[in-house]
Amino acid sequence: MIEEVFRVKLPVDEQLILKRNRFSPILDIPFSEQKRISIVTGIHGDEIEGQYVCYLLAKWLNENPDKIRGIVDIYPAMNPMGVDSITRGFPFYDVDLNRVFPGSTSDFLPAQVANGIVQAIKGSDYAIDIHASNIFLKELPQVRISKSNANELVPLAEKIGIDFIWVHDAVTVLESTFSHTMNTLGTKTLVVEMGVGMRITKAYGQSLSEGILNMMSEVGIIERPLSPHGKTSVSTINSQVHFINSPSAGVFIPSLEHNVTVIRGEKIGEIVDPLLGVVKNELLSPCDGLLFTVREYPVVYEGSLIARILEDMKEIKS
Ligand SMILES: [Zn+2]
Repeated sequence: MIEEVFRVKLPVDEQLILKRNRFSPILDIPFSEQKRISIVTGIHGDEIEGQYVCYLLAKWLNENPDKIRGIVDIYPAMNPMGVDSITRGFPFYDVDLNRVFPGSTSDFLPAQVANGIVQAIKGSDYAIDIHASNIFLKELPQVRISKSNANELVPLAEKIGIDFIWVHDAVTVLESTFSHTMNTLGTKTLVVEMGVGMRITKAYGQSLSEGILNMMSEVGIIERPLSPHGKTSVSTINSQVHFINSPSAGVFIPSLEHNVTVIRGEKIGEIVDPLLGVVKNELLSPCDGLLFTVREYPVVYEGSLIARILEDMKEIKS
C-alpha cells in the first residue's frame, strides 16, 4: 500500500512529499508478532543504485503476498527533490541531508524532512540504508558499521551475505546521520555502500536484494527458503584498510579492474599529465589485499582518493 509519511508546502503551490510502499501480511498474524523492516535509499539524490534494489524487493513482495510474515516498508526517495534533479545534497539549501539528523519540526526544510523520516521509520526493528558512494569512487558492496555498534550489527550484516563488512573506528562516527539516529532509537540500522553515483550496477543490485530477502527470511519477516547466496567473505574487525591518495594533480589511468586481489607493490594505476605526455606518479599497493574502492572519475587533485585496499589478514599476522 502506498502511504504518504511526510508532506510540506513549497512556495508556489507545489509540495514535497515522502512516500513509502508498505507490505503487510495477508495472513492473520498478531500485530505484536510482526517484525518490521524499513528499506531506505535516496538520502543522497545522486546515488541511484538503491532504486534498483527497491524495485526488485517490491517486485518480489508483489509476487509473493502469501509469504509475508511481517511489515516491509520501502522508501525509494528520502531526498525526493535531490533524486529528481540529480543533486547529492538537499536542493537550494546546499546541505547534506545525511548530516542534519535527527532533524526538527521547527528548523529549516532539510531538518523538517529529516524529522519526518525519523518519525516514519521509528519503531522499525530493522532498517537498511542503501548508498552508492558518489560519482568519483566505485565501491564493492559493503556494510559499514561503527565500532560501538559492532556486536549488535555484525551478526545482522552477515545474514545479508555481502562482500564485506567495514567496521569503522568510533572516532569516525557521525552523530548527525540517519543510521546513528535510528540505531540510537533502537532500530538496528545497516548502511550499505555499493557501486558508483548516478549509475546502476545490475549485478550488485541483484546480489543485495537476494541478500536482503535472505536476511528478512532469517529474522521471520518473510517465509522463503534461503537462496544459495555468497557468504560474507571478510570483515575488517581483524584487518586494516589502506587508503591511496594522489600525490599530485593530473588524470588517473587505472591499471587494474575493480574488486581484484592485489599484492604488495603491484601497480594500481598512474597519474598522467596530458599536456606534457608524461607519467607523473605510479601508484603502488602498500599491501596484499582486496582492491574494494577504486576511483571512477579520472580528474584528480593532490590528495584525491584513488583507492582503498582491505589488507589481507595473513600479512598482518606475520
Ligand atoms: Zn550516500
